[in-house]
Amino acid sequence: MLKDMGIHMKGGVITELDSEYCTIRARIPAGVISCGQLKGIAEVAERYGADSLHLTTRQTIEIPHMNPADLDAIAKDLAANNTPVGSERDEVVNVIACPGTERCIFANIDSISLARSIDAKLFGKEMPVKIRISISACPNACTSPLLNEIGIVGQNRPVRVPGLCTGCGTCVEYCKEEAITIKRGISVLDTSRCVQCGTCVRSCPYNLLQSSGEHYLITVGGRRGRHPKTGRELITVKSQASVLLVVEKVVAWVYRRAWSGRLLSDQMDEIQFEKFRDEIKALIPEDERIGDTSGEISAGSGI
Ligand code: SF4
Ligand code: SF4
Ligand code: SF4
Repeated sequence: MLKDMGIHMKGGVITELDSEYCTIRARIPAGVISCGQLKGIAEVAERYGADSLHLTTRQTIEIPHMNPADLDAIAKDLAANNTPVGSERDEVVNVIACPGTERCIFANIDSISLARSIDAKLFGKEMPVKIRISISACPNACTSPLLNEIGIVGQNRPVRVPGLCTGCGTCVEYCKEEAITIKRGISVLDTSRCVQCGTCVRSCPYNLLQSSGEHYLITVGGRRGRHPKTGRELITVKSQASVLLVVEKVVAWVYRRAWSGRLLSDQMDEIQFEKFRDEIKALIPEDERIGDTSGEISAGSGI
């Protein structure tokens, strides 16, 4: 049986099928660690008898089959490696993110630095329900943000700058949503089809399409699991600072209003999501917001 209930109750320590053993999960925001830290985790694992590691869906690393008697020592060694014991209970758990502007050609935002900033403020905060946060730097949504309690998607709205559109159709070819057509020799955007991926912005050979600036769609109340649900749009903001403010408010709102034992997605109406959305809108200055958000991911303005 597990002896150290203190560490166990903090999360990040998972009792295995054979309850004489436990799995220990590390805290790795955005799943990014240095080569040295990776070696360090492997050394800790070997030191306490593991011969393998497990990469999780939430971008962390688990050390399986540990002896609960070693929990304190393992936790100390992992903390010294700057990859402390993680979280998996009713807490803010490991924040996940795609590579974003660090590496991906489709990225509209720096998802990794945002994940680290959110982690620094909120990781491990005890909650009535589990809070999973996922960031994707474009609407391709590689990290499935809309299936998390809090999802963040980097968007980029095309704006055509003054200049002579040649009607060459390059942007039409690049748009996978068939949101652009050529009418009377110039490009025209169907805002209802545009998902604000920004691909067309990068496609115009004459640089006539420009970004309206990075922005961040924030959704609340999604989930994976046996009954997946898409998160509801909360707000779209223009800066990381505003994202942090909104995410902190969402966490505080859930902390105050939600109750344990039911997924957040099932409680959204009871805990007055619509009223909360109005409160959030009032909190964020108008020049930091993009449009109104309701229903599906909103479309951008015309090209
Ligand atoms: S979500 Fe977009 S930016 Fe992020 S890895 Fe996928 S394609 Fe690249
Ligand atoms: S930003 Fe909109 S119009 Fe441009 S490629 Fe993406 S979906 Fe198409
Ligand atoms: S906006 Fe640029 S890419 Fe699109 S049709 Fe006009 S010139 Fe071509």
